[in-house]
Amino acid sequence: MPWTLPALRLAWNVAKHQVAPWWVECSKEAFSAGLDQLARGLKNVSDSREGKRKGRRVGFPRFKKRGRARDSFRYTTGAYGPACDRRVKLPRIGRVKVCEPMGALTSRLAEGRARLLGATVARTAHRWYVSFTVEVDRQAPPGPSRRQRDAGPVGVDLGVKHLAVLSTGEMVVNPKHLAGSLRRLRTTSRAHARSRPGSARRRRRAARLARIHARVAHQRRDGLHTLTTRLAKTHSVIVVEDLHVAGMVRNRRLACSVSDTGMAEVRRQLAYKTGWYGSTLVVGDRWYPSSKTCSGCGWRNPSLTLADRTFTCQSCGLVTDRDLNAAVNLRHLVAASTSETVNARGADHKTRASGQVAGKREPGTATAGQTGSASLHGGAA
Ligand SMILES: [Zn+2]
Repeated sequence: MPWTLPALRLAWNVAKHQVAPWWVECSKEAFSAGLDQLARGLKNVSDSREGKRKGRRVGFPRFKKRGRARDSFRYTTGAYGPACDRRVKLPRIGRVKVCEPMGALTSRLAEGRARLLGATVARTAHRWYVSFTVEVDRQAPPGPSRRQRDAGPVGVDLGVKHLAVLSTGEMVVNPKHLAGSLRRLRTTSRAHARSRPGSARRRRRAARLARIHARVAHQRRDGLHTLTTRLAKTHSVIVVEDLHVAGMVRNRRLACSVSDTGMAEVRRQLAYKTGWYGSTLVVGDRWYPSSKTCSGCGWRNPSLTLADRTFTCQSCGLVTDRDLNAAVNLRHLVAASTSETVNARGADHKTRASGQVAGKREPGTATAGQTGSASLHGGAA
């Protein structure tokens, strides 16, 4: 039997006077959170050994060190939470000023429409963030609105050059500031690689590099959130590719890993946002060749290469942008059976187009009336 959390707590309370005489200075939550994670880790190890846990074999938990792992701790009890508009209460630390206004959360909490379940404080690059786990009462709309129905389904092809190409013909460009940050990232990482290991300059450059990486990640995330919110609000059905398709078909280099993670994130965001706004998410079948199929007549071009930016159909003569072609194909996945898809909201179902394609609905999608959770991030000043 692995160690349980209560057992670990008992052992810690005996040992702490010896091994950590400074324990009084810290919130007990900091130790509790660490022990909780340790207990989970140990359970995963034993479950994995006994074959009760699927997937890869789980290794023994590793020791963590400040600055070497993700620096974070979590509150689950005590007087934590948003204090006023721009402050957060954290036991043992006090009131901390945050960058993000807390109004949306405080009003929900005051009206009893939300409950705090925990708060995690974590560091990314040079900033500290506090994120709250909140249970929110949310009235999900029963189905798509008039505006969403009028706009109909949309196919989304995620890319590197553009953030996304929609089947409506719209090319959603990457946020402008992203390019600047990527350039800075390149020069800074070069400077970091050239500096002598162990030197003060290398440390400074590593910190700078971490800041730029965090900035790029934030800018990307912002672009994705803006896109997914708009899609979920304005269309009845959103069709995206399944993961790995692009990875295998298009490009194996770095650019692709960027788009691949973006794709997983877009899918994750759409899964819950479609639930919020009454639309439906459909994930195209993994083996559906959205790039190689003609969106006009269904002809396949098996020899389409990565370099081909335009799709030229040798059957009907259609000439179109490669990504747009893929996006239109994705939309066709539901266009063939629109009514079925819309009505089947909230249930697993298959979508078939021209008898060859299966689309599947994300199993994790929130259904109407379900409780969602939201987290607010505020950078501590
Ligand atoms: Zn064609």
